[in-house]
Amino acid sequence: MRATDAAKPAIPKSGPLSLETSVVTLSGIGPKRAAALAERGIATVRDLIFHLPSRYQDWRHLTPLGALVPGTTATVEAELGGIAERPMRGAPWRRLASGWLSSGAIRVRVVWFNLPGYMRGKLPSGERVLAHGRVTETAEGNIELVQPEIHLLSAGTPPPVRPYYNLPAGMSQRVFAGITRSALGEVEQQVGSSIPREVHHDFLPVAQALAGLHQPSADADPDVLNAERSREHLSLAFDELFAFELALSLERERAAQRPGIAIEGGAPKTGAWLASLPFRLTGAQERAIGEISADLKRPTQMNRMLLGDVGSGKTLVAFWAAVSAIGSGYQVAMMAPTELLAEQHHATFQRLCGNLGIPAALLTGKVQGRARATLLRGLNSGAVPIVFGTQAIIQERVRVKGLGLGIIDEQHRFGVFDRAKLKALGAGANLLMMTATPIPRSLALSLFANLNISFLDELPPGRTPVETLIFSEADLDRVEQIVRGELVAGHRAYYVLPRIDAPDEEMRSVAAAAERLRRSTFRDYRVEVMHGRMNAADKERVMARFRDGAVQVLVATTVVEVGIDVPEATVIAIIAAERYGLAQLHQLRGRVGRGSAAARCCLVASGEADEPARERLGLMTTCTTGTQVAEADLKLRGPGDLLGARQTGALPLRFVHLVRDDRLIYRSRELAEGWLRKDPDLQGPSSAGAREAIRRMLSLGFSLGDVG
Ligand code: ADP
Ligand code: MG
Repeated sequence: MRATDAAKPAIPKSGPLSLETSVVTLSGIGPKRAAALAERGIATVRDLIFHLPSRYQDWRHLTPLGALVPGTTATVEAELGGIAERPMRGAPWRRLASGWLSSGAIRVRVVWFNLPGYMRGKLPSGERVLAHGRVTETAEGNIELVQPEIHLLSAGTPPPVRPYYNLPAGMSQRVFAGITRSALGEVEQQVGSSIPREVHHDFLPVAQALAGLHQPSADADPDVLNAERSREHLSLAFDELFAFELALSLERERAAQRPGIAIEGGAPKTGAWLASLPFRLTGAQERAIGEISADLKRPTQMNRMLLGDVGSGKTLVAFWAAVSAIGSGYQVAMMAPTELLAEQHHATFQRLCGNLGIPAALLTGKVQGRARATLLRGLNSGAVPIVFGTQAIIQERVRVKGLGLGIIDEQHRFGVFDRAKLKALGAGANLLMMTATPIPRSLALSLFANLNISFLDELPPGRTPVETLIFSEADLDRVEQIVRGELVAGHRAYYVLPRIDAPDEEMRSVAAAAERLRRSTFRDYRVEVMHGRMNAADKERVMARFRDGAVQVLVATTVVEVGIDVPEATVIAIIAAERYGLAQLHQLRGRVGRGSAAARCCLVASGEADEPARERLGLMTTCTTGTQVAEADLKLRGPGDLLGARQTGALPLRFVHLVRDDRLIYRSRELAEGWLRKDPDLQGPSSAGAREAIRRMLSLGFSLGDVG
């Protein structure tokens, strides 16, 4: 931050630096800083140099002090003076600092809230500085520069494009940048690339890409860097992808040979069961069933992913596979991410498969004591043919006698280890994973290249797309009239609110909304609440009553987001809708329109929602499928992780943006397959980097065979 803070070279306190050296050995980092960095996952030199700037400040253009525009970020050249620091009222450990920037006759106030420790008492009064920060306007109409970074002009010209890191409090940007740069300089030779030289093409070696990101060249474009579309960013992503695709290809070949349980399937029984259903399968469901059936018959393990938009009918396909496995004498375990969903599957199975006389069990955290012991014994002895549950299924003491099939619903909610554990319940067990993750078909094929994929790309007949309407909070009574209309017609409704119980946000709390609706608009209907603070039994009781119609209005938090299926619900009102991402809104909207009646989704924007937020919500009115939503989101937000950390967390891809990089992903797959034709076992000298990268992916807990 100040010239005096300039980093000393990162000479290790002892010995030469390696990538695995702990950061505490670097000069400038003591035990306290090391501990703070470790909390951010920065423990070794490798972690340090791969901790990329979160954004880049553009110091290239100076704004005259008299021309600052509120709401923008600006760099000004001025004299800093009149510095005053004082503890903040009510929070004396925080320091408020203020001063003036002056240039000629113009003076602008500058403030720092919560002045970081390393800056205290050190603001350079009376010096000529460059200041870079946000311009705001006070209630009195005065322009202020808030929380600026300061550069002393006496210390020379600053770099025009400055990296800015996410750092622990009290760690100076400048110190961190300095340490990182010199550490990188020393270990440069040790940073390998997974891409063999012969395949390099237009990508930079990893060390060079890192250098360009930590210390952008004078002609770097901060907009491109901030969009993470620089050649450096793409090179890092490509290097990671190349190793990943190699690993997937290798695994795919191996998996094809791994012995697995062959399930012939009790064809007559499953056929009769299908015929007994109240509807006919969609073409896509039939196709998926055919693919799964072929997999199951083979004496190798099935690793299949069923990809289908919300409401496409994945559950039924899973049940078909389950019934086949059970018909052949094997056991089945189906795992879902929430208790509500596990309970729903259990109930649906009993409803749809009740005539088959298959006893189904439910294993969640709330099944305790004697009941649990009996159930565990039943699984162990093989007396219980199918169990539905949450992660409780893969806990230590659960043993399943003859597991033939493991099913994972909403698989993106689980980590790779969970998948491995489910499979570990039975040697040779086949695995079926299901997700509504909205990614284009070709991308899915590359990204899950080690799995077989069935696409459920058709909705059951008679569905009309959910009509999506946008409202302001001021129009809540119009929303209530729409909901009321549905109730009068005998349908059911969801209200989704962001808070459970919030005195400061009455409009947005489940408790307050339920109270209000019960007393007024829906006096003659049954309104119940559901949220994450209720215990599992209460949640399930409410859910069951909503499902069978005893409750008509369910006021809930996003606990209803995944998988809940109540076809009679035809309207969902989402309050403070701007708080959710488009993909999440699509999931929530998917709770309605699951039957043949037309359905509506009312998105209610709160007062704070700004214009871009409203525009974003507007996209939901035209995008009806998951893929459309995903693409719109991409266009709007640019790169950025469409699928969210939650979904990609399971993949060992740190620098890849699934959508930004779709082309890179295809290309890396081609190149990886081409390379494997040259060096099938990766034993050649040019494959050393790739071997090392794959080895590290594995040590990070990414296990082949469980990717997806
Ligand atoms: P998702 O793919 O989102 O998990 P579900 O499996 O919950 O969807 O199915 C959504 C709804 O569609 C359920 O109520 C289910 O009974 C119904 N459904 C499934 N397949 C068909 C079909 N072929 N025809 C009509 N309705 C179907
Ligand atoms: Mg589902």
